[in-house]
Amino acid sequence: MRCSKLGEKVCIKNFTLSELEKLMIDWGERPFRARQIFHHLYVRLIGSWDQCTDLSNNLRREIKEAFHLEAISFISKLTSSDGTEKFLFKLPDGYAVESVLIPDPPRYTLCLSTQVGCPLKCSFCYTGSLGFKRNLKAGEIVDQYVQVQQLSKNRITNVVFMGMGEPLLNEAELFRALEILLEPRGINLSHRRITLSTVGIIPAMDRLGKHYPVNLAVSLHAPRDDLRSDLMPINRTYSLEPLIEACIKYPLPPRKRITFEYVLIDGVNDSPREAKELSELVRPLRCKINLIPYNPHEGAKYRRPSEAKVNEFQAILQKAHITATIRESRGIDIQAACGQLAGSLRRFSTNIPSHTHHALTKGE
Ligand code: SAH
Repeated sequence: MRCSKLGEKVCIKNFTLSELEKLMIDWGERPFRARQIFHHLYVRLIGSWDQCTDLSNNLRREIKEAFHLEAISFISKLTSSDGTEKFLFKLPDGYAVESVLIPDPPRYTLCLSTQVGCPLKCSFCYTGSLGFKRNLKAGEIVDQYVQVQQLSKNRITNVVFMGMGEPLLNEAELFRALEILLEPRGINLSHRRITLSTVGIIPAMDRLGKHYPVNLAVSLHAPRDDLRSDLMPINRTYSLEPLIEACIKYPLPPRKRITFEYVLIDGVNDSPREAKELSELVRPLRCKINLIPYNPHEGAKYRRPSEAKVNEFQAILQKAHITATIRESRGIDIQAACGQLAGSLRRFSTNIPSHTHHALTKGE
């Protein structure tokens, strides 16, 4: 009898194509079986192994015994008045994560989470205020994509890692997830259609650029170390000068520019002084600045600046010949905007039967 050689049962979406090929060889199968499986999982988006009729009954039985098809269970979806959709998923240990689908036809951008909570404790971010629970597995990241695509009538065209967590603090699983999302025989996303947002974990940024040079968005939020360290404690480890150096070195896809995200907080980092310092700081780079007026959340100690102040800040940057856009916050009414995701607040009992997922899916 052939044996999976795996301990406890895991989700098949944790495996890259080359790992599945090796596994098939171990099982005495031909490696092209792995490519067939990838096609079923990521092109056909199957909801059951029984749909894989081109695999022998025997192989199907072995796969079923060795692997779960799903890494996460769909719980519910909220739709904003602007069309943004927020999906809540339950993890096997009862934690929850959220993913957000932002329609901007013909673009449909999926925002993925990489951690339950976040350890960084940026002073303005709701996710950070909830603390850190754990890293997501690659399969739990990839399955957000698969399940949102199964539930959505529009084809997802872009992926951003801007959901819960700091992606570059979950490097190993993030890289596996990227490998799977980019795989030409599966989801086949292009590097150009993936953007990763980071606070600037410099060594991991270097490795990302080396192995998976996707678009980069860097959360800056302040042009000086003192202010940035107040807002983002991680700045005490990775400060502005080496961060800008790492951005200059980063190998972007052709004709792409780094994005700097800058949350504008009333009376904290939104004065003309900061706008001028910011334009000096980013001058050595081909970049664009995305200004995000602060989104308040439960228990927030900050305020959003007036529209006039936001416009003034933008005008100073533009005058210095720096591209600066104001991010229109999407999904505010369903708490789906930047810094508002809080799936980790909930912890479900782990005995929600897995068929709940299908029942809910059908009910949509
Ligand atoms: N940890 C990564 C990925 C999260 S992306 C990062 O920080 O880049 C989420 C973006 O929303 C980040 O730029 C974050 O700083 C920003 N953000 C967090 N809280 C916010 C808030 N209350 N209002 C507006 N933007 C916020």
